[in-house]
Amino acid sequence: MNICIIGTGYVGLVSGVCFSDFGHNVSCVDLDQKKIDDLNQGLIPIFEPGLEQLLKRNFKENRLSFTTNLDSVVNTADVIFIAVGTPARRGDGHADIEYVVEAAKQIARKITKYIVIVIKSTVPVGTNRLIHKIIAEENPVLDFDVVSNPEFLREGAAIDDFMRPDRVIIGVESKKAEDILREIYLPLSLKNFPVIATDLESAELIKYASNAFLATKITFMNEIAALCEKVGGNISEIANGMGLDRRIGNQFLRAGPGYGGSCFPKDTLALAKIGLDAGSPISIIETVIKANAETKIRMLRKLKALCDNSFRGKKIAILGVTFKPETDDMREAPSLTIVPALLSEGANVSIYCPQGFKEGKELLGNVEWCNEPYNAVQNSNLMVILTEWNELRSLDLQKLALSMETPKLADLRNIYSRALALQAGFESYDGVGK
Ligand code: NAD
Repeated sequence: MNICIIGTGYVGLVSGVCFSDFGHNVSCVDLDQKKIDDLNQGLIPIFEPGLEQLLKRNFKENRLSFTTNLDSVVNTADVIFIAVGTPARRGDGHADIEYVVEAAKQIARKITKYIVIVIKSTVPVGTNRLIHKIIAEENPVLDFDVVSNPEFLREGAAIDDFMRPDRVIIGVESKKAEDILREIYLPLSLKNFPVIATDLESAELIKYASNAFLATKITFMNEIAALCEKVGGNISEIANGMGLDRRIGNQFLRAGPGYGGSCFPKDTLALAKIGLDAGSPISIIETVIKANAETKIRMLRKLKALCDNSFRGKKIAILGVTFKPETDDMREAPSLTIVPALLSEGANVSIYCPQGFKEGKELLGNVEWCNEPYNAVQNSNLMVILTEWNELRSLDLQKLALSMETPKLADLRNIYSRALALQAGFESYDGVGK
């Protein structure tokens, strides 16, 4: 199958690389000339475990190419995936589908034969139908189908998620298009990974409802953690006790500084907006959005209490600034709320993050970047674990405590125990919900 992917970001690049590994011929298109030049030289624009090796192999075997020139590939494709960004629109939180519309129009103007256009971007209910209408208006003689194929990969585990998905969802109205999509995903269905066909609206909503549900699970635990801090109880033990119930499941129960990333914040906002616009408010998601913002503020209060109620003149070491481990993505990371607040109240901030520097240097302002955790923590008044990178799980706490001005630890990912920290020489330890 000849596949063209428009948008070579996290989703487009990972999908393109994995489809080529299935044996398809894939052309990845992006507007960003530098990104495409880098990719053609084997330089990967994002940090994603396993991606580089897979990309280089398929590139070498001529199943994968990168271009900014849509015209050169569009008419050899059997299927075109649109995987461009759908950020939250300023002001109202609605998903901005401008890039999807633009990509669809570009295709419509160029294509001259039957084509399946697949929307992989996360888009509000009704967008696939709208895109169908826009393409038909742009090119009234074109024979085509529009398919919704939302993506569920997680950054940091994207290759594994794509290659071993819990499910592939295909929102489709034509048998011909469904058969083509099933052929593309045949390597997965042959391994018994479920490939499920639905109507267009269900596919669109499965994506939003899934992300909103996961964000709710996290937020629920963050609120139970806040309760523990008032009435007692240990959130890690509570999560364990709850997670053993198979109806609940043991994932997404870890309390922390609030969810972030490129999807949950914008997708919860978008779902809330979709509900309001349809006259069917999803009040639980509106509450989740508010509670998540409050969780980040609560973390700041926690840090301030550890700094004797003033950040002024304090040196604060932040370990981990990406929104989660194993990615360099900083979109909506809790660090983007916490670090600027510390700086604005007069703290000096030093940072160590295995992959945060590339994006963080533009976003986090006047901070000191360090190339290892021990440098960042030296002479500080407070050490804050903000992202649970594996390499931060086995630090020499004694060495760290000894090197600090005032050895205090805010463990916002609960990766250490209070007993361990105090034994290592920290004078105070605060986790989340303990
Ligand atoms: P991204 O911002 O990393 O990448 C988007 C890319 O599209 C950019 O490189 C941009 O230059 C390119 N682009 C925009 N318009 C273009 C055009 N007309 N022609 C060619 N290229 C164009 O975005 P992403 O994180 O990959 O997300 C893409 C979509 O997938 C979003 O809707 C997102 O919600 C969804 N999604 C993301 C994830 C994730 O973990 N990042 C997971 C599941 C779903």
